Amino acid sequence: MGVLNIVPTGVLTGDNVRKLFDYAKDNKFAIPAINVTSSSTANAVLEAARDIKSPIIIQVSQGGSAYFAGKGLANDKQQASVTGAVAAALHIRTVSKSYGVPVVLHSDHCAHKLLPWFDGMLEADEKYYKEHREPLFSSHMLDLSEEPKDQNIATCVKYYKRMAAIGLWLEMEIGITGGEEDGVDNTGVDNANLYTQPEDVFDIYNALSKIGPNFSIAAGFGNVHGVYKPGNVRLRPDLLGKHQMYAREQLGGKPEKPLYLVFHGGSGSTKEEIKTAVVNGVVKMNVDTDTQYAYLTGIRDFVEKKKDYIQAQVGNPEGPDKPNKKYYDPRVWVREGEKTLVERVKEACTDLGNVNRL
Ligand SMILES: [Zn+2]
Repeated sequence: MGVLNIVPTGVLTGDNVRKLFDYAKDNKFAIPAINVTSSSTANAVLEAARDIKSPIIIQVSQGGSAYFAGKGLANDKQQASVTGAVAAALHIRTVSKSYGVPVVLHSDHCAHKLLPWFDGMLEADEKYYKEHREPLFSSHMLDLSEEPKDQNIATCVKYYKRMAAIGLWLEMEIGITGGEEDGVDNTGVDNANLYTQPEDVFDIYNALSKIGPNFSIAAGFGNVHGVYKPGNVRLRPDLLGKHQMYAREQLGGKPEKPLYLVFHGGSGSTKEEIKTAVVNGVVKMNVDTDTQYAYLTGIRDFVEKKKDYIQAQVGNPEGPDKPNKKYYDPRVWVREGEKTLVERVKEACTDLGNVNRL
């Protein structure tokens, strides 16, 4: 029995998101969440999911959302990030049914200073809900990990009440993901802060489960955004098992893995580390750095190989009158980036066991 026996194709919302994550948890696989910045990258992610017959998570960051709307737009009040996130969501909603895969449509890290972006998306969700009885997105992430725990939890509770009312999933972060992403620089953070304690994770579970069951936790276990030289921080996915165990004990022995966990900053991690994380209840793993690079490689190789065919609109090594349209048409060279992105998304799915799951 596959995923399509449990959830429909297209963008999932409400309890369908939890049903998908439960299925992944029970069958010990996780779903990669790929950041997209354009219809081109979004389509490539959907193409990969279709080819390997599996569900997929597509997400937009605050910067990626602004890019989706266009870098030429002002974003001083997060207006371009809101517009771009809505545009991305509507695009993905429109085409995902044609690809025939279930999609979790998610927004990535939102720090305190970016809350106007979050508020704008939530308003769009509520508006969409009025018409369609479901939100525009499947889920959103709030990342208040830089704040004291109590403040972090209080803000998550406030937002989650509003989100749960319209069937939105909440992903929250406790503990800090090192490295730098989207303008938030955590490269100087003390190493001890990169590992979250089981008690802290359970406090979050306790507060949010009073409102609803549809939430996940990105707990720090030495994760770092981006790809750096190994050895600086040690990834400890085994700690996630301790979080599950502690939560289980507090809840009187079941369920076996009460927490939905999310793996951030996993670029460059070993297959073994990924496996340990998945066994310990990670249902979503973010992939951005590696797929960014993959999108470039196809275009880079094309430009290098066809260098002499793109110097002018007319004239190449085959003759001074030969037209070059079939080399400079963006459907040709951007497509090369899409192809290498498709392959990298398939690899991410394979690493997580997310293959032939429909
Ligand atoms: Zn992250």
